Amino acid sequence: MVYQHQFDDGRTVDWPLGKVVCIGRNYAAHAAELNNPIPTTPLLFIKPASAVVSMAEPFRVPRDLGEVHFETELAILIGQPLTRADEAQAAEAIAGVGLGLDLTLRDLQDALKKAGQPWEKAKSFDGACPLSSFVSPDTINLTDCQIRLHVNGELRQDGNSSQMLTPVLELLSYASHFFTLNPGDVVLTGTPAGVGPVRPDDQLVVELADQLQVETRAS
Ligand code: ZN
Repeated sequence: MVYQHQFDDGRTVDWPLGKVVCIGRNYAAHAAELNNPIPTTPLLFIKPASAVVSMAEPFRVPRDLGEVHFETELAILIGQPLTRADEAQAAEAIAGVGLGLDLTLRDLQDALKKAGQPWEKAKSFDGACPLSSFVSPDTINLTDCQIRLHVNGELRQDGNSSQMLTPVLELLSYASHFFTLNPGDVVLTGTPAGVGPVRPDDQLVVELADQLQVETRAS
């Protein structure tokens, strides 16, 4: 199945989604809430295209694998190839800005971390990356935009991109030195504090500044 990116104005793009490049612990307050040290260089991992689903549909949370946590993150849609790019090239390549949920099997991740093993099973399972539609990058100030999540009517995450340890353009440039970013790829930029469990039937509303508000549901 090919995932088709949507824009909030109804436009779609046909770029194939190859991967989602993610950064861990990009907000100091979130690193602290999980008792993790703040990394000295960006901590990157990848979710495959098979992890991506649209927030326009209810997203399925795994059963019987321990707690599933939400992490609400600013999502960058790449529109031009980036290889060892500088920040100016990265800025040119941004085709859209939206939100993603970096769903995490937290109990499993804790066990994998303890065993010194990679996180893939906890972060990259089918459905582990619900994505919103995107808005034009012209409408968002990447270094100062609010990211919010409400679960069942309660505000659970409320962060600002100004709190990122590695800001968006620096992150895109850094990531492109390891992984070529292709049109259709998405970069998730880390979660602010407030992560917690998401369960079937929870109602979620994610907000990006005053530009995007998307309602979705766990099933
Ligand atoms: Zn995350």
